[in-house]
Formats: sequence, C-alpha cells, structure tokens
Amino acid sequence: MTEHQVMIVGAGPTGLMMAGELALAGVEAVIVERRTAEELASTRSGGLGLHSRTIEILDQRGIADRFISQGRIAQVASFAGTPLDISDFPTRHNYGLALRQKHVERILAGWVDERSVPVYRGCEVTGLRLDDTGADIDLSDGSTLRAKYLIGCDGGRSVVRKAADIEFPGSDPTVSNLIAEIELSDEAEWGIRRDAIGTHALSKLEDGSVGVLLTEPQLRTGEPTLQELKEQLVSVFGTDFGARNPRFISRFTDVSRQAATYRKGRVLVAGDAAHIHPPDGGQGLNTGIQDAANLAWKLAQVIRRTSPESLLDTYHAERHPVGARALRQAMAAIPFRRENDRIHALREMLSELLSMDGPRKRVAGVLSGLDIHYDLGEGHPLLGRRMPDLEVAAADGSLRVFTMLHEARPVLLNLGAQGTLDITPWADRVKRIDARYVGAWELPVLGAVNAPTAVLIRPDGHVAWVGDGSGRVLNDALTTWFGAPRAT
Ligand SMILES: Cc1cc2nc3c(=O)[nH]c(=O)nc-3n(C[C@H](O)[C@H](O)[C@H](O)COP(=O)(O)OP(=O)(O)OC[C@H]3O[C@@H](n4cnc5c(N)ncnc54)[C@H](O)[C@@H]3O)c2cc1C
Repeated sequence: MTEHQVMIVGAGPTGLMMAGELALAGVEAVIVERRTAEELASTRSGGLGLHSRTIEILDQRGIADRFISQGRIAQVASFAGTPLDISDFPTRHNYGLALRQKHVERILAGWVDERSVPVYRGCEVTGLRLDDTGADIDLSDGSTLRAKYLIGCDGGRSVVRKAADIEFPGSDPTVSNLIAEIELSDEAEWGIRRDAIGTHALSKLEDGSVGVLLTEPQLRTGEPTLQELKEQLVSVFGTDFGARNPRFISRFTDVSRQAATYRKGRVLVAGDAAHIHPPDGGQGLNTGIQDAANLAWKLAQVIRRTSPESLLDTYHAERHPVGARALRQAMAAIPFRRENDRIHALREMLSELLSMDGPRKRVAGVLSGLDIHYDLGEGHPLLGRRMPDLEVAAADGSLRVFTMLHEARPVLLNLGAQGTLDITPWADRVKRIDARYVGAWELPVLGAVNAPTAVLIRPDGHVAWVGDGSGRVLNDALTTWFGAPRAT
C-alpha cells in the first residue's frame, strides 16, 4: 500500500493553501478531493472577500499579486451594515480584495500545481482507520492509501473530524438562506433589500447571469429546488422575474460550531472542518487560509524530526481562539440582517460608535485579521503578533521583510550591532539577516511600539522573539520554535 507523509482531505482554499505550504517546506503530501475540476467551478459562487491579513500571508509567499490582479481592491470590512475603512492601518495592504471564491481556488490550485503536489480529484474519502503511526484511508474507487499524518480540510461535514471522534459543539441553525446563480427574463430590482425576515439581494454577475441571495421565512435544510427559489422570489419581490436556467442553487444557515480540539494524535483539522459560522463578515475562507499558514511549517518540522510532536499542540493553542473569535463576530452580526424599528435604532447607535476611531480600529482589527496575537508570553508588543512588512537596508540593498519569508523559512532579523547574535547551531534552519532600519514601528490597532534591536520571525510571519533588552534568551526561543541546537 502506498504510504504518504501527509494526506490532505479536501481541495478547498484551506487544503490548497496547506498543500502549497507543505510543499514549500519540503514535505511530501497528496490531496484527495471528491469534486472534479468542473464541479468545483460550478459550485463556488459565494465568498466575496479576502481580508488584509490573508493578502499579507499571500504576499509573504510572493503570490499576492496573482490575486490582486484578478480582483477589485476595496474596503470590504463591515459590521452591522457599517463599512469599516482600514486605509489608515499601517500595512501595505490597507484594504481587502473583492474576488470570488472560485477564482481564489483557481489561483491557489495553480500555485500548488507549480509545486507538483499530486491532487486526486473525483476521489472521495469513504472511511478511515486511525492508529498510533498514521491512518489507512479508504477511497471511493475502492483503493486504500496510508499516511503518517492526516489533515481534514474537508469542510463543515468533515469525515476526518468525525472519524477522529473530535466533538463539534456549538449553536444549531435558526435561519436559512438560498443562494443561486440564475438567468432572469425580466429586469430585476438590483441591490440589497432588508425586511422583517432578513436580507435579500440581486446582483449582476461578470458573465451576465444573476446572483441571488434570499432569506427564507422558516428554517429549512436540504438541497433546494428552482421551484423553492421562484416561490421565495415571489414572496419577497412579488415576482420571480422569470427565473430560469440555474447554474447552481444552494442553501446555507447560521449554524455555528467549532471543533473541541484541532489535533487528535496524528489527525489535524483546519478551515471549515474546524469551524463553521454564518458568512457575515467574510471570515471563513480567510480563517482557513490562515490556519494552513500556521500549521504547515510546524508539521513539516515534526515530520523532519527537528521538533517534537508537542509543537503541533501550539496549532490548537494559537488557532482555536482565532476561530472562536470569528464565530462570535459572525453570530453577533445575525440580528442585523433583519430590518424593523428596533434593529434600525440599534444599527444607528452602533454605526455612531463605529465612526469613532477606537471602536472602528478594534472591530476592523478583528475582521481584517491584522490584530491577531498568539499568546507567546509577556514581553514586547510584537511578540506573537504579525511582523510588519518593513523595508530594511541589508547588505545587498533594500529588502522587504515579506520577501525574506518567500521560502517559508524562519528569519532572524538583526537590526542592532552586526555579528552580535550567533545562531550557528540553528544555521541550517534559520536564516540570519543583518540590516538597518530607521523608520517607525507601528502596529495596526495598537499604534507605535518601541523599536527592537532584533526579531525572530516564524515562517507564518509571526514574531517568536524580540531583542529589546528584556533578557529573554534567544536560544530558548530558537529551541522552542525550531528545534534543538545542532552540535557545531
Ligand atoms: C454565501 C457564502 C459567502 C461566503 N463569503 C465568504 C467571504 O466573503 N469570505 C470568507 O472568508 N469566507 C466566506 N464564506 C465561507 C467560505 O466559503 C468557507 O469558509 C470556505 O469555503 C472554507 O474553505 P475550506 O477549504 O475549509 O472548506 P470547503 O471550501 O468546504 O472545502 C472542503 C473540500 O473538501 C471536499 N471534501 C469534503 N468531503 C470530502 C471527502 N470525504 N473526500 C474528499 N473530499 C472531500 C469538498 O468537496 C471541498 O472541496 C462564505 C460562505 C458562504 C456560504
């Protein structure tokens, strides 16, 4: 039986990002995806926005321009109907990107292809047997594969999560929506309409068809039909506008659940397999891509035996709170989908609050993902936060921090006296760059912070150690994050 180092189940945005990151880290991985390429293109109409931190993560790999060139730069963050402008945030990408999910997946799939990761499409995982050294995975074509590690990126109904007996507690759905791409014979009433039932929207799509979003008066589940969609159009607009030729019709709810643990032995879950919530705020795909960037380099180090298995526990410790925050934000937005006098009053009051700098930055920091802070202990405000994309003066000229991260290798950026930080025992894993920087140090939401003399940057762009004279020992941080020193 073929044995792989890692099997990723699901080639949605999370699985694709995971595959690209693992390939960069030099780990052998395969993806198994039940959909064919054509099915993928026809079912992914939703997902409108990439938030700033996700664009930064793509920039850290040198691929942000592939997405930016095909999307529309916009201020995409909003809460309760109030747009949240982040153009004053200190980041090169002080905006979001309107780009539909099928395009995000297509571009990610191209990147993964360049790294020659095998993707078995049209192949469903039907069963799993887990043991202490890996998993046997049954596929719909009757074959069985074996993998040392299994990552469930297989969406909200994750087979992997269920097979690993990982609980998925949360809130049951209270409302359902229809979403569709269709043709209309008659001219429609374009834009968003809110009423006592919820939010409804009709929009013209780039290919001339029509995007439809409707809130149903009662909670429904299961696959919707064209007839149901037409009836719902009539009940909201008084006509179905001659709806015909559906490209796809789907239903989603406000169900919100989160995996109790993101790791069980050699099984890990990421993206919607780990957290599901309503799409309000556009957090799901973004959180999944960020989960992948957090996990892949850690798993690569464990597989290479440079780090102990316990490094994988930091994946849950860091990403579970971020997922919980996404759930909270999305659930809090649900009441604002409806319109009545009381909700209107509350929305107006919230809008007044969000027009103030402090509240706006706080909420936009969450939605944009720019304020994510992993708890790596007390210390300088940079510790555990994303490293800003500074332009520093290095030996070979000016260099951006994100460019240093293109190979997904850790970087020790020394901005103090040259030659003071000796990392020879980690030189095979950590790249040291001596440089100078004279500009400001500013973090989103927090504002200006003291200039450090050095920073240790993880492959995901988060700061693992700060040289600020606080006495925290660099060697301890190097060992914790990148393994024991090599004898020199
Ligand atoms: C209307 C709507 C709008 C949205 N808008 C946004 C937005 O603006 N921004 C945002 O960030 N998020 C948005 N989301 C959420 C986003 O679509 C999801 O969070 C995202 O698709 C999750 O990606 P994933 O890769 O984790 O899972 P999925 O996209 O669900 O991918 C899982 C993959 O696994 C495959 N699979 C499942 N089971 C198996 C199996 N047994 N064997 C093999 N393969 C399997 C599936 O075919 C699928 O391709 C929106 C969602 C909806 C419904």
